[in-house]
Amino acid sequence: MVKPKKHLGQHFLTDTSIAERITNLLDIQTGNTIIEVGPGKGILSDFLIKKAGEKLKLIEIDQESVEYLREKYPEIKEQLIEGDFLKQDLNQFGDHLLIIGNFPYNISSQIFFKILESKNNVDEVVCMIQKEVAQRIASGPGNKQYGILSVLLQTWYDIKLEFNVKPGSFFPPPAVNSSVIRLKRNARKDIDCDEKFYKSIIKMSFNQRRKVLSNSLKSVLVNSKMESVDKGLRRRPEELSVEDFLVLCNALEGGELI
Ligand code: SAM
Repeated sequence: MVKPKKHLGQHFLTDTSIAERITNLLDIQTGNTIIEVGPGKGILSDFLIKKAGEKLKLIEIDQESVEYLREKYPEIKEQLIEGDFLKQDLNQFGDHLLIIGNFPYNISSQIFFKILESKNNVDEVVCMIQKEVAQRIASGPGNKQYGILSVLLQTWYDIKLEFNVKPGSFFPPPAVNSSVIRLKRNARKDIDCDEKFYKSIIKMSFNQRRKVLSNSLKSVLVNSKMESVDKGLRRRPEELSVEDFLVLCNALEGGELI
């Protein structure tokens, strides 16, 4: 028995047909390592073990779930890691990683930031998260939900909302609706500006999302001697696409006006 623990975001999926549908979204190729975040009682792992065998790693923080899984799957004991996904160095698992999971909703954004740290080693992510977060991540410019995580993830991944799941498909049911999304690494190898700078510009822009860029980026503009403002900086962050942000950062780094 695993008693659901709220602080670990434990809402166990109970519908096996949904579990099968989620795992079928993974595009497993030779050379991939598959990492499941938070296997819980193993409803996804049942399918993943069949699909991926020894290429699968399970990372679970909850000791009680880990004991349950060790008994359930004695054959893959070595592949089961008891620990915090957020504290793992993903690069230790090699490259061409596929990450899958019904993520603990309370830390889903942190999981995405973690994945971004190893984006060149993570080919694909298939996950269930809170519906609002999924919409935020997948939405584009001009949309109220478009924000920091949408721009950062869309810089490196093509994102598709796959399907929605109702609270009744879990035990205990969560208070929110859920969505399954798929992120597939795009062809971008690098960006022309410093990545830390890019991230900080996006954060500064969206932290004051009602303001135009010339206001929210004032400190950077002064540093790069770009005190006069042209029309490119009179936009609000939600009007800028990923490509626009890349052009902006490049120009800011080079000290040019856009
Ligand atoms: N995969 C199971 C399912 O679909 O029924 C469980 C999903 S439940 C929404 C989230 C799981 O993530 C729980 O088993 C929880 O213990 C685990 N978890 C929470 N925080 C974690 C962390 N930081 N690292 C690894 N696992 C975590």
